[in-house]
Amino acid sequence: MTNSTLDRFAADKLDRAARRGLRRELRPMHRRNAVRIVSDGRELLSFCCNDYLGLTHDPRLAEAAAEALATYGAGAGASRLVTGNHPLYDRLEERLAGIKETEACCIFGSGYLANAGIIPAIAGPGDLVVLDALAHASMHMGARASRAEIRQFAHNDAGHCAAILAEERGRYRYCLVLTEGVFSMDGDRAPLDALAEISAAHDSWLLVDDAHGFGVLGGGRGSIFEYSPRPEIPLQIGTLSKAVGAYGAFLCASAPVVALVQQRARSLIYTTGLPPSVVASSIAAVEIIASEPERVAAPLRQARRFCARLGLGAPESPIVPIVLGEENRALAASATLEREGFLVTAIRPPTVPAGTSRLRFTFSAAHEDGDVDRVADAVRPLMAQEATAAASAT
Ligand SMILES: *Cc1c(COP(=O)(O)O)cnc(C)c1O
Repeated sequence: MTNSTLDRFAADKLDRAARRGLRRELRPMHRRNAVRIVSDGRELLSFCCNDYLGLTHDPRLAEAAAEALATYGAGAGASRLVTGNHPLYDRLEERLAGIKETEACCIFGSGYLANAGIIPAIAGPGDLVVLDALAHASMHMGARASRAEIRQFAHNDAGHCAAILAEERGRYRYCLVLTEGVFSMDGDRAPLDALAEISAAHDSWLLVDDAHGFGVLGGGRGSIFEYSPRPEIPLQIGTLSKAVGAYGAFLCASAPVVALVQQRARSLIYTTGLPPSVVASSIAAVEIIASEPERVAAPLRQARRFCARLGLGAPESPIVPIVLGEENRALAASATLEREGFLVTAIRPPTVPAGTSRLRFTFSAAHEDGDVDRVADAVRPLMAQEATAAASAT
């Protein structure tokens, strides 16, 4: 320890975070399969992976990766615009555009990189970006990087979005509206039909990041496919790192929009292409999603089972939050579950608003009915304690 001003700055910041129950830690996690994790020498049953379909450990993904590794090497070698655009990219982009029924698709290094690059590729100074207050950090990042004017509408409040557009749209050149298909920390779905209509009425372009919907909702094709008729959404983003079980992300859009994004998105141009093995795994996973409807339906079915057992309302996605309020309550509840063999991380600010720290459960096709019943039974007494604490606080 040099005790430089930088070290003291860091130590002071860390102390403050720890005192407020906000210190985060990196723990070694050996994922033995989609839901069984060894940490600190103990095997835990995980309810906090985004591996909704249990594909991260599927041998078909591993085989595809091994073959690509032998054929194309371990790394892409350069940016996609230089020599990193190996032939697997084309195959996956074509397949994804087919699934989404769009003209074109462009793969990015990750969901974070997609949002950080696509939003500023389309919106700039003199434009307006209107986004859901709970939109993912990467969308906020992209909105800020665009240097457009930013407004937030109340979470899932299409009426508020319409009011902002009615009042402000006229003062700006172009306008982007941003939301998620399934909200990552709440598990609720955006009113995509209403937002699509409002956006079109105000000559604004709707971008939906369906990171948690692709592979799980709409028969695996994503949140938009839950609607009939399907809403018109010109910019559709999804990730390859959640249900797909690999890594990367994609934009599905019209041919000119995809071509423009390829010209302008800095997070595509100034970064190395994905390793060929990773793209190969995604291709294998997308085939599984298209051909195994029971696997695709399983995560939501398990979330419903969990909620029914605890008397909670029917979930809209495989993400079920149980909001406990103060940071330390969520940490204590997570620790109690861990002692009983369940891994459910506590989600705290700034990931969620202050005072809404929570346990966040995600359900996977790899969970068995008995797993879900056991964790629900372990959660019930924690919810009863909360109810008692809340009653005595009022
Ligand atoms: C997880 C997530 C991302 C980030 O995706 P990565 O591929 O993990 O970088 C982006 N947007 C939303 C809504 C997410 O939930």
